[in-house]
Amino acid sequence: MPDAARFDLVVIGSGPGGYVAAIRAAQLGLRVACVEKEKALGGTCLNVGCIPSKALLDSSEIYRHTQRGLAVHGVKASGVELDLPAMMARKDKVVRGLTSGIAGLFKKNTVTPVVGSARLAAPGRVAVTGASGEQTLEAERVLIATGSEPTPLRHLPYDGERVIGSTEALTLPRVPERMLVVGAGAVGLELGSVWSRLGAAVTVVEFLPHIVPWADREMGTQLQRALERQGMQFRLQTSARGAARSERGVRVTLAAAAGVSEEVEVDVALVAVGRRPYTEGLGARELGVAFDDKGRIVVNERFETNVPSVFAIGDVIPGPMLAHKAEEEGIAAVEMMAGHAGHVNYEAIPNVVYTWPELASVGITTEEAATRGVAVNVGTFPFRANGRARCMEETEGGVKVIADARTDRVLGIHILGPRASDLIAEAALAMEFGASAEDLARTVHAHPTLPEAVKEAALAVARRAIHI
Ligand code: FAD
Repeated sequence: MPDAARFDLVVIGSGPGGYVAAIRAAQLGLRVACVEKEKALGGTCLNVGCIPSKALLDSSEIYRHTQRGLAVHGVKASGVELDLPAMMARKDKVVRGLTSGIAGLFKKNTVTPVVGSARLAAPGRVAVTGASGEQTLEAERVLIATGSEPTPLRHLPYDGERVIGSTEALTLPRVPERMLVVGAGAVGLELGSVWSRLGAAVTVVEFLPHIVPWADREMGTQLQRALERQGMQFRLQTSARGAARSERGVRVTLAAAAGVSEEVEVDVALVAVGRRPYTEGLGARELGVAFDDKGRIVVNERFETNVPSVFAIGDVIPGPMLAHKAEEEGIAAVEMMAGHAGHVNYEAIPNVVYTWPELASVGITTEEAATRGVAVNVGTFPFRANGRARCMEETEGGVKVIADARTDRVLGIHILGPRASDLIAEAALAMEFGASAEDLARTVHAHPTLPEAVKEAALAVARRAIHI
């Protein structure tokens, strides 16, 4: 350990918030250590979140497409078989490649990685317990980036085998015949999609009357219909009230809002009802760090807690639990520490559900505009009228642009369709630059491409779409 274990900044947690903050701080000339309790760097996102789930989503989509999507292109395929161990091994390889890449980036940027569990021992002192005992790091500043963990359901406690969380759902040894997913948010729909594509009969139970409750209502409903066409079933306004192991797997009691309850028997039940901040063993409360009623660390606009020189970012503080939100907060926090300006535009954080079609959005929904009393003009354009989508045979969904009726400024863009996750980048950029719908509409888009649907939806705001 260089410099007698004294650092300008000790980052606790190496998820996308922590590792990105550590690298940026080192670029700005700070002496930085990043403490991680797990063997691999990268946090939830790289190890058991964004990356392994997307690796399985991509592989399972190729499997489904090869089975069902080739004939229409005049390609005959027979003998298509699933090799689940190979699919899992590829996923693990992708994860390994990226997590070990962080170690390389730390080396390049002279960030000191420290393996062990960190505890805020005293102001300016972080105690790290690792395999070789305890050591103390002296820190001018501490940045807490300890992330989150799956929220358990009291009536449906995890047993790691038949009642599982997202981590176990990424490593199932075989395709379940029947799977129940509790929670119709991004994680439930994505992992439900993976196993549905691989052959499981998947039923999704959601307590609320809509799937992806934060999404634009119309888009969420369209996504539900698309997933139903793929074979997934939905039980809305229904909650899981209890589970008992059975010979086959697990019997789950479901209670519908109408008061009717019933039992379903499945091989495996995935509980995906959200995540909660993780601060176990951190000693933050003992040091006097303030938390809100949801267990999140309270910070000011500089990401500093009520304890001077202790900062926090990412899933452990309020806001959407997203990797890119954690990254941007990490960068802004350390830039401000180094005397620069730092800023996160919370109005322009994209949110994606990586099903097929994908649902991506940035900014406000139609419902939020109504609640806030903002008069808006809305332009929509379906992918069935987009040339490239037709060439690809991917015509489900469409684009919706929501613009301020008074100023034409873009307030929200919602995309359901092929590669919506990529298409949303243009929307986020437009919002970041305060673009008007007309700016988007007058930007030359290459033809034939999927982003032309964004341009057309922007044209439709002023009722002048060309291709519909
Ligand atoms: P984390 O990534 O949770 O990292 C925190 C790290 O801190 C962990 O490595 C932990 O071991 C370490 N730590 C905790 N306490 C200590 C301690 N005391 N000492 C040392 N180390 C400690 N987000 C997206 O934006 N896009 C997606 O596609 C996406 N997909 C997801 C799929 C799944 C299945 C899941 C579960 C999540 C997904 N997320 C996605 C959410 C995303 O993973 C999180 O928002 C993101 O990882 C938060 O980053 P973070 O840096 O705040 O915390």
